[in-house]
Amino acid sequence: MSNPDSQPPFLVFGAPRIEEAEIAEVEACLRSGWLGTGPRVAQFERDFAAWRRVSPSQVAAVNSCTAALHVSMVAAGLEPGSEVITTPLTFCATVNAILHAGLTPVLADVDPVTQNIDPDAIEAAITPRTRAILPVHFAGRPCAMDRIMAIADKYGLMVIEDCAHAIETEYHGRPVGTFGDFGCYSFYVTKNVVTGEGGMILGRDEEHIARARILALHGMSKDAWHRFSDQGYKHYQVVECGFKYNMMDLQAAIGIHQLARVEQNWARRRELWQRYDEAFAGLPIGLPALPEADTRHGYHLYTVMIDVERCGISRDGFLEAMNAGRIGTGVHYLSVPEHPYYQQRFGWRPEQWPHAMRLGRQTVSLPLSPAMSDEDAERVIDAVQSLIGR
Ligand SMILES: *Cc1c(COP(=O)(O)O)cnc(C)c1O
Repeated sequence: MSNPDSQPPFLVFGAPRIEEAEIAEVEACLRSGWLGTGPRVAQFERDFAAWRRVSPSQVAAVNSCTAALHVSMVAAGLEPGSEVITTPLTFCATVNAILHAGLTPVLADVDPVTQNIDPDAIEAAITPRTRAILPVHFAGRPCAMDRIMAIADKYGLMVIEDCAHAIETEYHGRPVGTFGDFGCYSFYVTKNVVTGEGGMILGRDEEHIARARILALHGMSKDAWHRFSDQGYKHYQVVECGFKYNMMDLQAAIGIHQLARVEQNWARRRELWQRYDEAFAGLPIGLPALPEADTRHGYHLYTVMIDVERCGISRDGFLEAMNAGRIGTGVHYLSVPEHPYYQQRFGWRPEQWPHAMRLGRQTVSLPLSPAMSDEDAERVIDAVQSLIGR
């Protein structure tokens, strides 16, 4: 029956594209009786390692990217209170993970064009207590890894890459997440590969990953798969005070099939991206910078800048109007120092990082899911064009 009000369906921002293969694998996992960490997690780790061109002993699956960041920084063995330089234009989890690891976050402003952390700002933020840099490959665009690694080498710093937006991203022919000591990935529902909740740690050093694996499961020397499998009961030893961060087979069941379609979904998002670029070229809104030569963009977020002076509508007015048009949008992100917790704890003011502040106050993420049809994309385009008045 048709809806008499004929309201279009709400276009959910970041809706995942779930297909029959995932559904069948989840069912098979449930029927197998083994829901927890086991053979499907091991397969997902092997598949992920092969896809990022590293050894399976260089990856460890966990239950979120937040967990991956936290465990990486604990496994890195940095002394408490060490300073970690990161971007103010990121999700709060990046900064919270630094704090949970007992370290001190220091912000360095972004480049206003790329929206990624500015290497000059990193260098200016270095103090005698700096021990690590935590770049975020924002929206899927790679950070300037040649310059960041040169700074890290010069000052003897570790590098932990937040690759939550950047599963497919490459820089000068090499996957991001493989430049630093650690790369941390997210499989949250809105990300490019989905397990519901989930994350992956990739490490340059296999010993770091072995430690991260132990830390991610209570600090136990043998995981449940090895204790309760048909090889017979094995005693475990607690060798550190770890966390409960392991991924379940039920999650990996989704991820295995999502990862198999990672290229197909990337190609679909690129198509939507190019359609938006063409449709919005004449509008007085800021568009994402063109991808840099010799890099691969992950096309995770299509962010436009709504400046009230140029557009005749405020950013928040734009968000409300899109919502009234039944189109879901996102904000990535209000800069970290806009939030009261960090203001109170560190005395930060948004004005100290002016590029991140301005971007955060103007940015809107438009729907870019591979689950979108061409008609969905046309609805987004029509809505933006009519709001910005062409
Ligand atoms: C989503 C996200 C995270 C956290 O990922 P989870 O898997 O949800 O913990 C961290 N950093 C950035 C930049 C993100 O977008």
